[in-house]
Amino acid sequence: MERIVELVAVLNRYAQAYYTEDQPLVSDSEYDRLYRELVDLEKQYPESVLPDSPTHRVGGKILEGFEKYSHEYPLFSLQDAFSRSELDAFDQRVKKKFPQATYLCELKIDGLSISLTYVDGVLTVGATRGDGTVGENITENLKRVADIPLRLPEPISITVRGECYMPRASFEKINQQRQEAGEATFANPRNAAAGTLRQFDTNIVAQRGLATFLYQEASPTTSSSQSETLEKLADLGFVTNPLHLLAADMDEVWDFIVRVEEQRHSLPYEIDGIVIKVNSLAMQEELGFTVKAPRWAVAYKFPAEEKEATLLSVDWTVGRTGVVTPTANLTPVQLAGTTVSRATLHNVDYIADKDIRIGDTVVVYKAGDIIPAVLHVVLRDRDSQEVMSIPKRCPSCKETLQRYDDEVALRCVNPLCPEQIKVRLAHFASREAMNISGLGPSIVDKFFVANLVHDVADLYRLSMEDLLTLPNIKEKSATKLLAAIEQSKDNSADRLFFGLGVRHIGSKAAKLLLERFGSIDALAVATEADIAAIDGLGSVVARSVKTYFETEGAQTLLAEFKVLGVNLAYKGFVAKADALLSGQTVVLTGKLERLTRSEAKAKLEALGANVAGSVSKKTSIVVAGSDAGSKLSKAQELGIEIQDEAWLESL
Ligand code: NAD
Repeated sequence: MERIVELVAVLNRYAQAYYTEDQPLVSDSEYDRLYRELVDLEKQYPESVLPDSPTHRVGGKILEGFEKYSHEYPLFSLQDAFSRSELDAFDQRVKKKFPQATYLCELKIDGLSISLTYVDGVLTVGATRGDGTVGENITENLKRVADIPLRLPEPISITVRGECYMPRASFEKINQQRQEAGEATFANPRNAAAGTLRQFDTNIVAQRGLATFLYQEASPTTSSSQSETLEKLADLGFVTNPLHLLAADMDEVWDFIVRVEEQRHSLPYEIDGIVIKVNSLAMQEELGFTVKAPRWAVAYKFPAEEKEATLLSVDWTVGRTGVVTPTANLTPVQLAGTTVSRATLHNVDYIADKDIRIGDTVVVYKAGDIIPAVLHVVLRDRDSQEVMSIPKRCPSCKETLQRYDDEVALRCVNPLCPEQIKVRLAHFASREAMNISGLGPSIVDKFFVANLVHDVADLYRLSMEDLLTLPNIKEKSATKLLAAIEQSKDNSADRLFFGLGVRHIGSKAAKLLLERFGSIDALAVATEADIAAIDGLGSVVARSVKTYFETEGAQTLLAEFKVLGVNLAYKGFVAKADALLSGQTVVLTGKLERLTRSEAKAKLEALGANVAGSVSKKTSIVVAGSDAGSKLSKAQELGIEIQDEAWLESL
């Protein structure tokens, strides 16, 4: 059967991209549609089933680079259902054997399966599902996922399963950072979570804000039902999802599905359906498994949140760091509860790979349900559309655009590009940076038109006369703005450094850098190795900081700031050499009795310590209060000095 051969090849290629490269080539619904077609054909022509058919295999290939881990208890996929009638068919199969069966309905979290093995209460192995039998050993990475207990309250040996996922908020933040840095963005939170867990740098894992929901005990259990398992897992300190329901029949299941689907977009994480499991574990055992999935469970998948729209035009915009990004203007469509008329096209490679052309009918979807994106072209409607032309020059300053080897982004490298400067000025003035109220994009535009401001230092040269020459500016607001600009001169230097918009430097990195070096002058002469050694940062940040200070522009700007009286020192910095905890990284965990968290943090910082959020080899001391959890056990495991609140007070 030719079509079977074709489908197996295509689906295997898609699965490889999805599971192994974490960069899906098509939407899940497109994959599911082709998969269904294959299942139907295989039923019709059983003699043509190919040995490498995806209907007979779980997951994808194992990545090189991680140690393989053979699962003692295999992991499975789930049979899926797309309609009420398919659920009823599942129900009938179950009820034939167990008329009294009840179902536990759980959310289908869109992350990736993980398996955690504890020996005598200590986490010893964390692994991916892989092909179900052999996964990747990612223990060190999973140890950096904050909500996974490193030690259980009882010294038991147990293997548990669940889903590791990336909350929407972390996903959006990371994609924004990646876009700014000219790196490929993740297609959705699932791929972002999978890509993160396959990082070789555990610090990156710690920073990415992954979380888990556990739902299965794989080793022999004393629980008699799925609902009891969830309770037991919660008692052991695992995070279990609170949204589940014990349903007596399919009507109750369906009500739950409808209710959850309504609230789906207000959940802080992505789900792609509801998993319905026979609640009794004894019945589960009797029902058993097919070659790839249990017979006692089914995954109801929500209909795809995709719509077709016409691509009317493309806007190319320059960001703060010079990255030029394409945004599609579309005929408006309703998608996941909002009207969508603009969607990201990611970058030039994306447009070329998908051969997206103006005038095409395109499929739009919500990546992470937040940022709409163009997924692919519907070739059915392709007429005589021409291949899209990619700008050669910056849409703002007309300078020739560049592409670096390691980047998918187009970049305008002109430091005087007006659009970039405008976005940079707005960033400089933003709340997390210099916090200059009243200095929004519209006034920045006016500065430009009037030729008053060309870089951030010019802000500190503005006078009342200058401002009063601008259209629609009254003396009162001009006075306020000048006062806000003046006041910003005294900000701590970490705000200033963040405001400069150096590549890879977010507000947290700026704070860590200035905490460590004390002033921008000291940071400017710090070595790359010194910067990379800071807990929470790494070589990419170090390189970026060095590159920035090597530019002539940076040197000039620093000199100008000095002349203009802008503070370059970190406030709250204690001369490190004299401070008691100078150069030490301290982590706070558990509940403190007398000090609040922020008081404790301020005290530690005043003593010269760098206060970090997670425990690693670079941690010097952990201050543990009552009910300290995984951070404390990790510190014990790593042999890190542990102190209590009384110690902190005594300093
Ligand atoms: P699946 O995702 O349909 O279901 C099985 C998985 O669900 C389990 O392994 C587990 O990780 C997860 N899960 C989440 N919450 C759960 C819960 N409460 N209880 C039990 N399990 C839960 O199956 P799969 O085999 O992982 O992947 C197949 C699906 O992956 C396809 O249907 C498709 O949507 C997607 N896929 C997409 C592409 C693509 O190119 N876009 C390629 C391959 C696969």
